[in-house]
Amino acid sequence: MRTLDSSTSLRIAIQKSGRLTDKTISLLEGIGLKFDDYKRSLLVKCRNFDVELLLIRDDDIPEYVEDGVCDLGFVGANTVAEDQADVKILRGLDYGVCRLALAVPKNGSIKTTGDFEGKKIATSYPVLTRNYFEDKGVKNVSIVTLSGSVEIAPRLQIADAISDLVSTGGTLKANGLVELDKIFDSETQLVQTNKPLSEGKQALIDKMLQRIEGHKTAAESRYIMMNAPEAAVPKIKDLLPSMKSPTVMPLADDGMVAVHTVIPIDTFWEVMEKLKAAGASDIVMLPIESMIV
Ligand code: ATP
Ligand code: ZN
Repeated sequence: MRTLDSSTSLRIAIQKSGRLTDKTISLLEGIGLKFDDYKRSLLVKCRNFDVELLLIRDDDIPEYVEDGVCDLGFVGANTVAEDQADVKILRGLDYGVCRLALAVPKNGSIKTTGDFEGKKIATSYPVLTRNYFEDKGVKNVSIVTLSGSVEIAPRLQIADAISDLVSTGGTLKANGLVELDKIFDSETQLVQTNKPLSEGKQALIDKMLQRIEGHKTAAESRYIMMNAPEAAVPKIKDLLPSMKSPTVMPLADDGMVAVHTVIPIDTFWEVMEKLKAAGASDIVMLPIESMIV
């Protein structure tokens, strides 16, 4: 089924409209790809790379990538696993984070997984849910597959319990349900077709992967600059958690230097206080657009 494969562009499937759309587009833009208005068309050409985006429902992405209609796809791990798609998972991306949770009515009779014997469960994820109960050795569970609004199934007496995607758990609570167990942990994944690709396409994918890595490292790092007396440099160097040696430059004032380096964001506040105590002043932190280490 390579109906759309008339061009040699690297074709990437992304969700047309939903929770993953904006974050996927901003990741692609963040690694330097430029697109014209992606909301108006199904197939969007990239302006500066031989790449095109196919905007489709997230449920269709694993199959399109498996069939080679698209070379890459950005899609939830939940969807890839539910479809048991034959695709290569290139990497996880830390957005679209959620879990497939098993939930029951708050004051109902089901308290443990064993109590599910003979019960009905509503879900949009029958494969993952069935696997879960098989693993737990609970055999007599019937699954009612619904495509949406799963959380109201117990109230409608369609099912005794549900398994559904949850991020905060607010929807469960609002529907009088409590989470009993986690069936599957999910985040967005970048997946590649297992069909053979041209050298050019593979090189482009490798380049994108390297940029995604750089983008992630940059998002987790900050550029930090400070002034300090030259005598304080050894102590400051010891405090800085950077992998590489910092840049030290003389200032116009005698005996004073500027120290520049990159540090992991989560260490900033702690390090900054210690730097100040060590004699640093005018400490400035800047975000980094991208970096390749
Ligand atoms: P489509 O119209 O493309 O089929 P959809 O309604 O199936 O859209 P969304 O609700 O936009 O899909 O969710 C897309 C993906 O976002 C999910 O498959 C999952 O990977 C992720 N996600 C993250 N948090 C949640 C959440 N709280 N509920 C549902 N999905 C979530
Ligand atoms: Zn969907």
